[in-house]
Amino acid sequence: MTSQDLPRPLTGRRALITGASRGIGADIARAFAAAGADLVLSARDASSLEEPARRLAAEHGVRTAVLAADLADPDVPDRLWAEASALMEGLDVLVNNAGLSHPETVQTLDTAHFDETLRVNLRAPALLAARAGAAMAASGGGAILTIASAAALRPLAEHYAYSTAKAGLVMATRTLALELGEHGVRANSICPTVVLTDMGQTVWGEQPAKAAPMLARIPLSRFAQPREVSDVAVWLASDAASMINGAEIPVDGGYLVS
Ligand code: NAP
Repeated sequence: MTSQDLPRPLTGRRALITGASRGIGADIARAFAAAGADLVLSARDASSLEEPARRLAAEHGVRTAVLAADLADPDVPDRLWAEASALMEGLDVLVNNAGLSHPETVQTLDTAHFDETLRVNLRAPALLAARAGAAMAASGGGAILTIASAAALRPLAEHYAYSTAKAGLVMATRTLALELGEHGVRANSICPTVVLTDMGQTVWGEQPAKAAPMLARIPLSRFAQPREVSDVAVWLASDAASMINGAEIPVDGGYLVS
């Protein structure tokens, strides 16, 4: 049996995934392609996306395209949505995944880092989601997925700007759900704890002294794998989640109830 014989719940859906060059975004691209979705992959450097785009198209028989876009640039969110829509003649799913983190305490906060975090983690995805939601509402519906964080729902030390931005994005996503639900647009947030992407592995996985207190607050006693986020993303984008709107789905091993 090949991957194309398996059920493909996103067949015929066209999705834009930001931050698709590595980590969680790259794994969501893999999972979406395996589920049958056509994809526009975005990150700052198109060359990092071209090989995965070719490979996913060949392995899964889906259409793929790439777009370079720096979300810190104020003009980019509007342009990215317009260009991605034009490439696929419309889009059904937005995965707002790109993000960054400058771990700093309140006392060591750097103003430039604060501004960059709010531009990339809040302003850009909120504008992109607004443009996406309006277009989807006009064309009969769609799904908006926000890759937020458990840090949007519970403060995390050394994540002042990050938590502030992600909490704002969760509220933006709820507002999209409220305003656009009647037009068939669903908007939901996924809130992971630490995910062992390359960056997560370096920051947490390889520093047992730093990881131990965090692990102690996670009832499952481990960090997440990218696939555990991607599986939820495929489900949320699919008809299996057709009544899920305005939710925050923790992917946190129970961290938020501990
Ligand atoms: P990552 O491995 O560092 O990847 C970040 C992605 O975002 C890359 O594809 C990067 O692309 C893109 N990106 C960063 N700055 C950008 C900019 N200015 N313009 C456009 N794209 C930009 O991060 P990750 O761990 O996969 O995290 C993905 C998402 O999950 C983020 O929103 C993060 O906040 C969230 N999250 C992560 C964790 C975790 O522990 N890893 C936990 C909870 C939530 P280029 O650098 O190639 O441009």
